[in-house]
Amino acid sequence: MKKISLLGATGSIGWQTCDILKNHPEKFQLVAFSAGKNIEKTREIIKNLRPELVSVQDEEDAHALKKEFPHIHFTYGREGLVEVATHPNTSVLVNAVLGSVGLESTLAAIRMGKTIAIANKETLVTAGHLVMEEAKKYNAPILPVDSEHSAIFQSMNGENPKQIKRIILTASGGSFRDKSREELKNVTVKDALNHPNWSMGAKITIDSATMMNKGLEVIEAHVLFDMPFDQIDVLLHKESIIHSLVEYHDTSVIAQLGTPDMRVPIQYALSYPDRLPLIGGKQLNLAEIGQLHFKEVDFERFRALKLAYDAGRTGGTILTAMNAANEAAVQLFLEEKISFLQIEEIIEEIMLSHNNVLAPDLETILHVDSETRKRVLHMVQ
Ligand code: NDP
Ligand code: MG
Repeated sequence: MKKISLLGATGSIGWQTCDILKNHPEKFQLVAFSAGKNIEKTREIIKNLRPELVSVQDEEDAHALKKEFPHIHFTYGREGLVEVATHPNTSVLVNAVLGSVGLESTLAAIRMGKTIAIANKETLVTAGHLVMEEAKKYNAPILPVDSEHSAIFQSMNGENPKQIKRIILTASGGSFRDKSREELKNVTVKDALNHPNWSMGAKITIDSATMMNKGLEVIEAHVLFDMPFDQIDVLLHKESIIHSLVEYHDTSVIAQLGTPDMRVPIQYALSYPDRLPLIGGKQLNLAEIGQLHFKEVDFERFRALKLAYDAGRTGGTILTAMNAANEAAVQLFLEEKISFLQIEEIIEEIMLSHNNVLAPDLETILHVDSETRKRVLHMVQ
């Protein structure tokens, strides 16, 4: 029985994680979870999975819930995230919270030697070197949840990483993959939220439309698999059936395929190295699909992807600045305060004026993160 802490339980990944936990009560037990502001879903998870500890974003919500569920311990805020992540009775942390707010709790769980199933890619982008250093020091396995990274991880099973020629991340291209830059000028939030293949949280859906998501994933792959940026490529593949590929020195390419369903990589991270039946999963029928399509990426068309490669190759606090600028700009776009193309303009401006610090410590990272967010708000005002 694996005992689990889950950050971001009320989100898209978190909710699907709860679904898996519910379907395999003999394998997994949810001991602690965090939510943000969605109290309706928080209640439902409490009733279905009966955890010991729950953290919410706001103090008032924690007090109100305590009255409803007196037997459960409630906490809140950033410290609440750390408390959930470091619950003494759990051995696995599933980090599905959104954004760099997940960093401190991830580090705290690593220092207890817990296994980290990580969906929260912003943490790996903003402080990948710290996370991996600590994971090595405390012997904490880091297992990918992101579908591309899970595919790479699976395609590397039993192989010698030194014999890898390159990693190929596939990209659906997001909601606007068939639009020219000219056509992107007037797109709306509603258009951007309409992803062709995946149903995900709002932020990552916008990131997919700008392709910053793939940029974050290139950095995530660099961090998780210790792979130089020159050996990480992106390939457009609009069907999202091949979740990513690994090419070896003998020209063999190994890939992982499946219908687009995030529960597959989530469950694999939980059951690894075993595989469990996926309740309600849809079998891949290639004959029915008939054709798969591939296309080279155009870095002029998808500028955010180029910015992410630049930041990755530079390293240091520019990664934190880029990630925080993106988080802040996407939020402003969702609030209809800036246009779609302004997202990448803001990121570029932040990067161009950034005073880079290499190999930053946690304090420096947290400082750059909060200063960048303030600067983005200031730029827009
Ligand atoms: P959602 O927006 O759907 O969910 C985010 C979760 O984090 C919710 O539980 C939300 O709470 C909580 N949350 C947000 N802000 C805070 C905060 N400041 N303090 C505490 N809790 C907070 O996101 P997704 O599930 O889509 O994505 C989560 C992570 O997984 C991201 O890093 C994303 O890039 C990654 N990912 C997602 C995929 C997907 O298919 N969705 C695929 C691959 C990676 P509440 O809703 O209660 O306010
Ligand atoms: Mg992904």
